[in-house]
Amino acid sequence: MEKAHNGTAMKEASALATAQAQFDQAVQYLDLEPGLVDLLRWPRRELTVSFPVKMDDGTVRRFVGYRVHHNMSRGPTKGGIRYHPEVTLDEVRALAMWMTWKCALVNIPYGGAKGGVVCDPHKLSQHELEGLTRRYATEIAILISPEGDIPAPDMGTNAQVMAWIMDTYSMHRGYSTPAVVTGKPINIGGSQGRNEATGRGVIFTTREALKLLNKPLAGASVVVQGFGNVGSVAALTAHELGCKVIAVSDVKGGIYNPKGLDIYAVMRHARETRSVVGFPGSDGLTNAELLSLPCDVLVPAAMENQITAYNAAAVQCKVLAEGANGPTTPEADAILLDKGVFIIPDILCNAGGVIVSYFEWVQGLQAFFWEEKEVTERMEHFMVKAFHDVHREARRLQVDMRTAAQVLAIGRVADATTTRGLYP
Ligand code: GLU
Repeated sequence: MEKAHNGTAMKEASALATAQAQFDQAVQYLDLEPGLVDLLRWPRRELTVSFPVKMDDGTVRRFVGYRVHHNMSRGPTKGGIRYHPEVTLDEVRALAMWMTWKCALVNIPYGGAKGGVVCDPHKLSQHELEGLTRRYATEIAILISPEGDIPAPDMGTNAQVMAWIMDTYSMHRGYSTPAVVTGKPINIGGSQGRNEATGRGVIFTTREALKLLNKPLAGASVVVQGFGNVGSVAALTAHELGCKVIAVSDVKGGIYNPKGLDIYAVMRHARETRSVVGFPGSDGLTNAELLSLPCDVLVPAAMENQITAYNAAAVQCKVLAEGANGPTTPEADAILLDKGVFIIPDILCNAGGVIVSYFEWVQGLQAFFWEEKEVTERMEHFMVKAFHDVHREARRLQVDMRTAAQVLAIGRVADATTTRGLYP
C-alpha cells in the first residue's frame, strides 16, 4: 500500500486552490477565449457516492467516494483512485485537473480524472477492503470503461485493489475486461515495470535537471519524503544509479545518515517493521528537519501541501523533484524560485506512472505484451522529451518550469477542444 504522509507542514490551502492558482498563472501566457478558460478551470463531471459495506463484525458502515472527470478533449479520462481518511471532493477535483495537464504534457491520448474513497485502508481487513472496493467500483461503473475512463492506483490503493475493480467490472459485463484499469497485477494483464514507473521517472527527470546544472547524477545527495510506491522506488533508483540517499521518511518519521543509506536494506527493514524508523545505523529526524536538509535533490513523494509559505525558506536543495502531486503551494513556489531552486513540476516529474499505464492499456487492448526493458526505455523516452519541451518553453517565455509545463499542457488541451468544436 502506498502510504499517506502525515507531515507537520500545515495545510494552508486546498489542493484545488493550488491547482487553480497554477492554472491562472499559466493561462496569462496563452491567448484563449475567456469562456474556454472558465471551462478548463473546472471539472466536466463529478460523481459523489455513499454506499454500505458489511464489516467483519457483522455491522454495516457507510462510506463516501468520488470520481471526477476534469476534461476529455484529448481522449478517455485517466487517473488514480485514492483511499485516505482525509479525501475531499476539492482534493479529487484538483488531482483530476492535474491528470489532464500531465497526460497532455507527456502527449498521451487521455483526459484527466481522479477518484477517492474516504477511508483508512490500514484500519480495514483484506475482506473489508475487498467489499469496499467492489461496491465502490459498482457505484462508479456508470463512469468507468476501457474507452471512457480508466482508473489506476494512487495513495492507499495498489495492484490488488485494481484486480478487484477489474474483476467486478468484468463480472457485470460477462467477460474479462482488463483494459478498464491499469496498475493491475502482472498475472492478469498488468504491465512489466508499471509498479516502478513513477519512481524511476522521477529520477530520469532529475538526471536531466542535474545535467543542466552541470552535475552528474552519480554522487548527488538525495533526500526523499515518503516511502510508499513512489518514494521507495525513487530512492532505490537513485541509490542504484550511484546517488547518496542521505535521508528518507514515512508517516512514522525520518531516518538520516550523511554517508548515505543502503536503500535495499532500508526497504527490507520497512517491509519487516512497517516503517523506515529505527533503521540500524541511522539517526531519527522529523519531517521539518528532513525538508530542510542541505542536499542536491529533494524528492517530496508523500502528498499535497508539504512545502508551504511556512517552511519553504528553510528548504536547501538545488533540485526539487516533485514525486507527489501538488506538494508545493504557489507561495512556496515563489520563495523557492527566489532562492534559485530548480523545480521539476509534478505533472512532469511523476508522469512515468501514467505513461506506463498508457502502455499497459495499449498492451491490454492488443493482447500483446512487452518486456520490462522495452517498457522502461519507452517511458524514459517520453519523459526526457517532455522535460526538454518544458525547458525550451521556459526559456522561450522566460518563466519557471511549472508555468512552462502548464502553458504547454493547457495549450494542447485548448487546441483539441477548439479543433473538435462546440456541441451542439
Ligand atoms: N495515480 C497516478 C498519478 O497521479 C497514476 C495515474 C494513472 O496511472 O492513471 O499520476
